[in-house]
Amino acid sequence: MLATIEQTVQPHIGSGKVADYIPALAAVDPNQFGMAVALKDGSVHCLGDAAKPFSIQSISKVFTLSMTLRLMGAELWKRVGREPSGSGFNSIVQLEYECGIPRNPLINAGAIVVTDHLVNDGDCDTMIDQLVARLRHLAQDEAIAIDDEVARSEAAAGARNRALANFMASYGNMTNPVEDTLSAYFRHCAIAMSCRQLARAALYLAFDGCDPVTGEQIITSSNCRRINAVMMTCGHYDNSGDFAFRIGLPGKSGVGGGILVIAPTFGAIAVWSPGLNDAGTSTVGSIALESLVEQTGWSVFV
Ligand code: GLU
Repeated sequence: MLATIEQTVQPHIGSGKVADYIPALAAVDPNQFGMAVALKDGSVHCLGDAAKPFSIQSISKVFTLSMTLRLMGAELWKRVGREPSGSGFNSIVQLEYECGIPRNPLINAGAIVVTDHLVNDGDCDTMIDQLVARLRHLAQDEAIAIDDEVARSEAAAGARNRALANFMASYGNMTNPVEDTLSAYFRHCAIAMSCRQLARAALYLAFDGCDPVTGEQIITSSNCRRINAVMMTCGHYDNSGDFAFRIGLPGKSGVGGGILVIAPTFGAIAVWSPGLNDAGTSTVGSIALESLVEQTGWSVFV
């Protein structure tokens, strides 16, 4: 199966456009491709640059959402919706119509609120330490860390995210000083992980919130289903419908070129190739995932 995927993506490697609004990401070589498929027994099947860490960017939003629902429960839904936005990842327009309540937790505005909810006592360093520790635990790999250069670059180029956060603050939907929450947001977007680490870390999302290898219940079954539902409907910004049409599985893109996909009851898949389409989803990554679902028949629409 992996050999067929490799053949399928080969002619496309390097296509798409590397994100350049964050200077540190603009410098990434587009001619890279990696993929990892983590299965119920804990085995992780890898292709290409699957062991190479990359900037997970918005894929981190899945893990902050999961952490918030685990630690703080349903209170979050008073501050953020769960409807697809049909807009770009950093759009501000809908915030005015909806009085500072972002459409969903996977667009930038929504993820900033999730982070703000987690940093609830103003201690963003502790929140980030807990998140990184959680990812290491889930991936069973202590090597996961924040790429400080990417975090600095993102903070320096973060005018739009500052605008979103301040706009929401004006409606009373931020509880911490905006710069504190943003500093945590920029850092969690700058976490570097490989496809192998990412697929393993997300395995619990394919098994109703339970890590199938360790038996640990990471989140409740209902929260797990809700996260998957939000990934399915909102995981790719204004490209979410097309992703569901082509791949048929819950997923989350990141502008670093990674895509995390959940195949409920089968496993978790991470793919990475830096060139993006107009909506910020990896071009080659999507092609690889189409080939995977074609060969396995994995779909939530069976
Ligand atoms: N850190 C990026 C930002 O805030 C995340 C966007 C993405 O990966 O889709 O712009």
